[in-house]
Amino acid sequence: MKPANASLDTGLLQFADAEYQWKGPFYFIQGADPQFGLTKAWTHGDTENGDDEWAVEIKLAEQAVQAVNKLSPKPKFFVLCGDLVHGMPGTRWKKNQEQDLKDVLKNTDQDIPLVLVSGNHDIGNTPTSESIDDYCKNWGDDYFSFWVGGVFFIVLNSQLYYDCSKCPELKHAQDAWLDEQLATAAKQKCKHIIVFQHIPLFLSKPDEDDDYFNVNKPVRQEIMEKLDKAGVKAVFSGHYHRNAGGFYKGLEMVVSSAIGCQLGKDTHGLRVVVVTEEKVVHKYYSLTELGSHGIEKELLDMLAEQK
Ligand SMILES: [Zn+2]
Repeated sequence: MKPANASLDTGLLQFADAEYQWKGPFYFIQGADPQFGLTKAWTHGDTENGDDEWAVEIKLAEQAVQAVNKLSPKPKFFVLCGDLVHGMPGTRWKKNQEQDLKDVLKNTDQDIPLVLVSGNHDIGNTPTSESIDDYCKNWGDDYFSFWVGGVFFIVLNSQLYYDCSKCPELKHAQDAWLDEQLATAAKQKCKHIIVFQHIPLFLSKPDEDDDYFNVNKPVRQEIMEKLDKAGVKAVFSGHYHRNAGGFYKGLEMVVSSAIGCQLGKDTHGLRVVVVTEEKVVHKYYSLTELGSHGIEKELLDMLAEQK
Protein backbone atom coordinates (compact mmCIF):
# COMPACT_ATOMS: atom_id res chain seq x y z
CA MET A 1 0.00 0.00 0.00
CA LYS A 2 1.20 3.51 -0.76
CA PRO A 3 2.07 5.66 2.24
CA ALA A 4 0.23 8.89 2.97
CA ASN A 5 3.07 11.02 1.82
CA ALA A 6 2.35 14.57 0.82
CA SER A 7 5.36 16.77 0.91
CA LEU A 8 7.78 18.89 -0.99
CA ASP A 9 11.23 17.39 -1.27
CA THR A 10 12.32 19.56 1.63
CA GLY A 11 10.40 17.20 3.88
CA LEU A 12 9.31 20.19 5.91
CA LEU A 13 5.69 20.06 4.98
CA GLN A 14 4.41 16.77 6.24
CA PHE A 15 1.41 15.72 8.23
CA ALA A 16 1.87 14.65 11.80
CA ASP A 17 0.25 11.38 12.87
CA ALA A 18 -2.95 10.35 11.20
CA GLU A 19 -5.99 11.89 12.83
CA TYR A 20 -8.77 9.34 12.95
CA GLN A 21 -10.97 11.12 15.47
CA TRP A 22 -13.57 13.78 14.80
CA LYS A 23 -12.75 16.78 16.99
CA GLY A 24 -15.16 19.33 15.62
CA PRO A 25 -15.47 21.47 12.49
CA PHE A 26 -12.36 22.57 10.61
CA TYR A 27 -11.44 24.02 7.25
CA PHE A 28 -8.82 23.70 4.55
CA ILE A 29 -7.81 25.72 1.48
CA GLN A 30 -7.99 24.38 -2.06
CA GLY A 31 -6.14 25.98 -4.96
CA ALA A 32 -5.50 24.83 -8.51
CA ASP A 33 -3.40 25.56 -11.56
CA PRO A 34 -0.66 27.94 -10.51
CA GLN A 35 0.63 26.68 -13.89
CA PHE A 36 3.77 28.81 -14.21
CA GLY A 37 4.11 29.86 -17.87
CA LEU A 38 0.54 29.58 -19.16
CA THR A 39 -0.25 33.31 -19.19
CA LYS A 40 2.59 34.12 -21.61
CA ALA A 41 1.91 31.03 -23.73
CA TRP A 42 -1.82 31.80 -23.89
CA THR A 43 -1.50 35.50 -24.72
CA HIS A 44 1.06 34.70 -27.44
CA GLY A 45 -1.07 31.93 -28.89
CA ASP A 46 1.65 29.31 -28.46
CA THR A 47 0.64 26.95 -25.66
CA GLU A 48 3.28 24.40 -26.73
CA ASN A 49 6.46 26.49 -26.54
CA GLY A 50 5.44 30.00 -25.52
CA ASP A 51 5.92 29.46 -21.79
CA ASP A 52 9.29 31.18 -21.49
CA GLU A 53 8.20 33.75 -18.87
CA TRP A 54 6.20 33.31 -15.69
CA ALA A 55 6.79 36.39 -13.53
CA VAL A 56 3.01 36.96 -13.45
CA GLU A 57 2.37 33.51 -12.00
CA ILE A 58 5.18 33.87 -9.43
CA LYS A 59 3.43 37.01 -8.13
CA LEU A 60 0.04 35.30 -8.02
CA ALA A 61 1.40 32.23 -6.22
CA GLU A 62 3.16 34.49 -3.71
CA GLN A 63 -0.12 36.33 -3.18
CA ALA A 64 -1.88 32.99 -2.61
CA VAL A 65 0.72 31.81 -0.08
CA GLN A 66 0.58 35.14 1.77
CA ALA A 67 -3.22 35.04 1.90
CA VAL A 68 -3.14 31.48 3.31
CA ASN A 69 -0.43 32.32 5.86
CA LYS A 70 -2.48 35.23 7.22
CA LEU A 71 -5.64 33.22 7.91
CA SER A 72 -6.80 32.82 11.47
CA PRO A 73 -7.53 30.22 12.66
CA LYS A 74 -5.06 28.36 10.47
CA PRO A 75 -6.39 25.99 7.82
CA LYS A 76 -5.70 22.28 8.45
CA PHE A 77 -3.89 22.09 5.09
CA PHE A 78 -3.47 23.73 1.69
CA VAL A 79 -4.13 21.48 -1.32
CA LEU A 80 -3.01 22.37 -4.84
CA CYS A 81 -5.05 20.41 -7.38
CA GLY A 82 -2.53 20.08 -10.17
CA ASP A 83 -0.92 21.82 -13.08
CA LEU A 84 1.77 23.12 -10.82
CA VAL A 85 3.62 24.42 -13.87
CA HIS A 86 2.79 24.75 -17.57
CA GLY A 87 5.82 23.01 -19.09
CA MET A 88 5.00 19.43 -20.08
CA PRO A 89 7.46 16.64 -19.19
CA GLY A 90 10.65 17.00 -21.20
CA THR A 91 10.03 20.59 -22.33
CA ARG A 92 12.52 23.40 -22.06
CA TRP A 93 11.34 25.54 -19.15
CA LYS A 94 9.81 22.93 -16.88
CA LYS A 95 12.71 22.58 -14.44
CA ASN A 96 13.05 26.35 -13.98
CA GLN A 97 9.30 26.76 -13.54
CA GLU A 98 9.26 23.99 -10.94
CA GLN A 99 12.17 25.48 -9.03
CA ASP A 100 10.50 28.88 -8.94
CA LEU A 101 7.25 27.35 -7.69
CA LYS A 102 9.12 25.44 -4.97
CA ASP A 103 10.78 28.67 -3.90
CA VAL A 104 7.35 30.27 -3.49
CA LEU A 105 5.73 27.28 -1.75
CA LYS A 106 8.56 27.01 0.75
CA ASN A 107 7.24 30.19 2.31
CA THR A 108 3.98 28.51 3.27
CA ASP A 109 3.54 28.57 7.06
CA GLN A 110 5.22 25.43 8.36
CA ASP A 111 2.15 24.57 10.43
CA ILE A 112 0.05 24.32 7.25
CA PRO A 113 0.83 21.07 5.41
CA LEU A 114 0.87 21.31 1.66
CA VAL A 115 -0.90 18.60 -0.34
CA LEU A 116 0.05 18.33 -4.00
CA VAL A 117 -2.01 16.72 -6.77
CA SER A 118 -0.63 15.83 -10.21
CA GLY A 119 -2.10 17.50 -13.31
CA ASN A 120 -1.81 16.82 -17.03
CA HIS A 121 0.96 19.41 -17.38
CA ASP A 122 2.86 17.79 -14.52
CA ILE A 123 2.92 14.23 -15.91
CA GLY A 124 1.75 14.65 -19.53
CA ASN A 125 -1.61 14.25 -21.26
CA THR A 126 -0.68 10.64 -21.97
CA PRO A 127 1.51 9.83 -18.97
CA THR A 128 4.15 7.11 -18.96
CA SER A 129 5.66 5.25 -16.02
CA GLU A 130 8.75 7.48 -16.49
CA SER A 131 6.83 10.78 -16.40
CA ILE A 132 4.91 9.64 -13.31
CA ASP A 133 8.10 8.44 -11.69
CA ASP A 134 9.76 11.82 -12.32
CA TYR A 135 6.79 13.58 -10.74
CA CYS A 136 6.89 11.33 -7.67
CA LYS A 137 10.60 11.94 -7.15
CA ASN A 138 10.08 15.65 -7.54
CA TRP A 139 6.80 16.33 -5.72
CA GLY A 140 5.71 13.20 -3.85
CA ASP A 141 3.29 10.37 -4.60
CA ASP A 142 0.80 10.73 -7.44
CA TYR A 143 -1.94 9.08 -5.34
CA PHE A 144 -2.25 8.70 -1.59
CA SER A 145 -4.65 9.17 1.29
CA PHE A 146 -4.59 10.87 4.68
CA TRP A 147 -6.81 11.55 7.69
CA VAL A 148 -7.55 14.92 9.22
CA GLY A 149 -9.90 15.27 12.20
CA GLY A 150 -11.86 12.11 11.47
CA VAL A 151 -12.24 12.88 7.76
CA PHE A 152 -10.65 10.65 5.13
CA PHE A 153 -9.01 12.41 2.16
CA ILE A 154 -8.04 10.66 -1.06
CA VAL A 155 -5.74 12.16 -3.72
CA LEU A 156 -6.03 10.59 -7.18
CA ASN A 157 -4.00 10.74 -10.36
CA SER A 158 -6.72 11.70 -12.85
CA GLN A 159 -4.42 11.29 -15.89
CA LEU A 160 -4.77 7.56 -15.37
CA TYR A 161 -8.50 8.09 -16.04
CA TYR A 162 -7.95 10.50 -18.91
CA ASP A 163 -5.50 8.42 -20.95
CA CYS A 164 -3.69 5.39 -19.55
CA SER A 165 -2.76 3.95 -22.96
CA LYS A 166 0.97 4.04 -22.19
CA CYS A 167 0.73 2.74 -18.63
CA PRO A 168 -2.45 0.63 -18.25
CA GLU A 169 -0.88 -1.33 -15.38
CA LEU A 170 -0.60 1.88 -13.35
CA LYS A 171 -4.31 2.58 -13.82
CA HIS A 172 -5.14 -0.93 -12.62
CA ALA A 173 -2.90 -0.42 -9.60
CA GLN A 174 -4.61 2.86 -8.69
CA ASP A 175 -8.07 1.27 -9.19
CA ALA A 176 -7.21 -1.61 -6.86
CA TRP A 177 -5.69 0.79 -4.32
CA LEU A 178 -8.81 3.01 -4.42
CA ASP A 179 -11.10 0.02 -3.78
CA GLU A 180 -8.93 -0.88 -0.80
CA GLN A 181 -9.00 2.69 0.52
CA LEU A 182 -12.78 2.96 0.23
CA ALA A 183 -13.18 -0.36 2.03
CA THR A 184 -10.88 0.85 4.84
CA ALA A 185 -12.83 4.11 5.10
CA ALA A 186 -16.06 2.15 5.51
CA LYS A 187 -14.57 0.12 8.38
CA GLN A 188 -13.04 3.13 10.15
CA LYS A 189 -16.34 5.02 10.42
CA CYS A 190 -14.95 8.27 9.07
CA LYS A 191 -17.11 11.38 9.27
CA HIS A 192 -16.73 12.20 5.56
CA ILE A 193 -14.68 11.11 2.56
CA ILE A 194 -13.34 13.82 0.24
CA VAL A 195 -11.42 13.31 -3.03
CA PHE A 196 -8.89 15.58 -4.80
CA GLN A 197 -7.91 15.19 -8.45
CA HIS A 198 -6.87 17.50 -11.27
CA ILE A 199 -9.35 16.80 -14.08
CA PRO A 200 -13.04 17.19 -13.15
CA LEU A 201 -15.18 14.07 -13.60
CA PHE A 202 -17.67 16.51 -15.17
CA LEU A 203 -18.05 20.28 -15.34
CA SER A 204 -21.76 20.75 -14.67
CA LYS A 205 -23.77 17.64 -15.59
CA PRO A 206 -22.75 14.03 -14.96
CA ASP A 207 -23.96 13.02 -18.45
CA GLU A 208 -22.37 15.93 -20.39
CA ASP A 209 -20.41 15.14 -23.56
CA ASP A 210 -16.71 14.32 -23.41
CA ASP A 211 -14.25 17.14 -23.95
CA TYR A 212 -10.73 18.26 -23.02
CA PHE A 213 -11.87 19.40 -19.58
CA ASN A 214 -13.65 16.28 -18.25
CA VAL A 215 -13.14 12.53 -17.89
CA ASN A 216 -14.64 10.46 -20.71
CA LYS A 217 -18.10 9.04 -20.12
CA PRO A 218 -17.61 5.31 -19.51
CA VAL A 219 -14.72 5.87 -17.08
CA ARG A 220 -16.54 8.85 -15.52
CA GLN A 221 -19.69 6.78 -14.92
CA GLU A 222 -17.70 4.01 -13.27
CA ILE A 223 -15.83 6.36 -10.90
CA MET A 224 -18.86 8.51 -10.03
CA GLU A 225 -20.84 5.40 -9.15
CA LYS A 226 -17.99 3.92 -7.12
CA LEU A 227 -17.37 7.13 -5.17
CA ASP A 228 -21.05 7.84 -4.55
CA LYS A 229 -21.68 4.28 -3.39
CA ALA A 230 -18.77 4.56 -0.94
CA GLY A 231 -20.34 7.73 0.48
CA VAL A 232 -17.78 10.20 -0.87
CA LYS A 233 -19.17 13.70 -0.26
CA ALA A 234 -17.23 15.73 -2.79
CA VAL A 235 -14.54 15.68 -5.45
CA PHE A 236 -12.47 18.89 -5.69
CA SER A 237 -10.60 19.58 -8.93
CA GLY A 238 -9.07 22.27 -11.14
CA HIS A 239 -7.94 22.09 -14.81
CA TYR A 240 -10.85 24.20 -16.16
CA HIS A 241 -9.45 27.61 -15.09
CA ARG A 242 -13.05 28.60 -14.32
CA ASN A 243 -15.40 27.81 -11.45
CA ALA A 244 -18.00 25.15 -12.17
CA GLY A 245 -19.55 22.04 -10.70
CA GLY A 246 -22.66 19.95 -10.12
CA PHE A 247 -23.99 16.79 -8.53
CA TYR A 248 -24.13 13.09 -9.30
CA LYS A 249 -26.64 11.72 -6.78
CA GLY A 250 -25.13 12.64 -3.39
CA LEU A 251 -21.65 13.29 -4.79
CA GLU A 252 -20.73 16.94 -5.37
CA MET A 253 -18.24 17.78 -8.14
CA VAL A 254 -16.45 21.05 -7.33
CA VAL A 255 -14.37 22.69 -10.05
CA SER A 256 -12.20 25.57 -8.87
CA SER A 257 -10.71 28.29 -11.03
CA ALA A 258 -6.98 28.92 -11.15
CA ILE A 259 -4.48 30.72 -8.99
CA GLY A 260 -2.75 31.43 -12.30
CA CYS A 261 -4.14 32.20 -15.78
CA GLN A 262 -7.93 32.61 -16.07
CA LEU A 263 -9.72 31.19 -19.12
CA GLY A 264 -13.10 32.65 -18.14
CA LYS A 265 -14.44 35.55 -16.11
CA ASP A 266 -13.40 34.37 -12.65
CA THR A 267 -10.67 35.98 -10.59
CA HIS A 268 -7.36 34.44 -9.52
CA GLY A 269 -8.41 32.75 -6.32
CA LEU A 270 -8.60 30.03 -3.71
CA ARG A 271 -11.46 27.99 -2.29
CA VAL A 272 -12.19 27.87 1.43
CA VAL A 273 -13.71 24.51 2.43
CA VAL A 274 -15.40 24.17 5.83
CA VAL A 275 -16.07 20.65 7.08
CA THR A 276 -18.75 20.31 9.77
CA GLU A 277 -20.23 17.17 11.26
CA GLU A 278 -23.08 17.19 8.72
CA LYS A 279 -21.73 18.88 5.64
CA VAL A 280 -18.93 20.22 3.48
CA VAL A 281 -19.42 23.92 2.66
CA HIS A 282 -17.17 25.80 0.28
CA LYS A 283 -16.69 29.25 -1.20
CA TYR A 284 -14.27 30.61 -3.80
CA TYR A 285 -12.47 33.84 -2.87
CA SER A 286 -10.36 36.10 -5.04
CA LEU A 287 -6.74 36.27 -3.83
CA THR A 288 -7.19 39.97 -3.11
CA GLU A 289 -10.35 39.44 -1.06
CA LEU A 290 -8.97 36.52 0.93
CA GLY A 291 -5.67 38.32 1.51
CA SER A 292 -7.24 41.54 2.70
CA HIS A 293 -10.44 40.48 4.49
CA GLY A 294 -9.87 36.80 5.32
CA ILE A 295 -12.77 34.40 5.67
CA GLU A 296 -16.26 35.84 6.13
CA LYS A 297 -18.09 35.63 9.45
CA GLU A 298 -20.72 33.17 8.26
CA LEU A 299 -18.08 30.52 7.58
CA LEU A 300 -16.08 31.31 10.70
CA ASP A 301 -19.27 30.87 12.74
CA MET A 302 -19.62 27.35 11.36
CA LEU A 303 -16.16 26.55 12.70
CA ALA A 304 -17.09 27.83 16.14
CA GLU A 305 -20.20 25.63 16.37
CA GLN A 306 -20.34 22.21 18.01
CA LYS A 307 -17.05 22.57 19.80
ZN1 LIG B 1 -4.80 20.88 -16.55
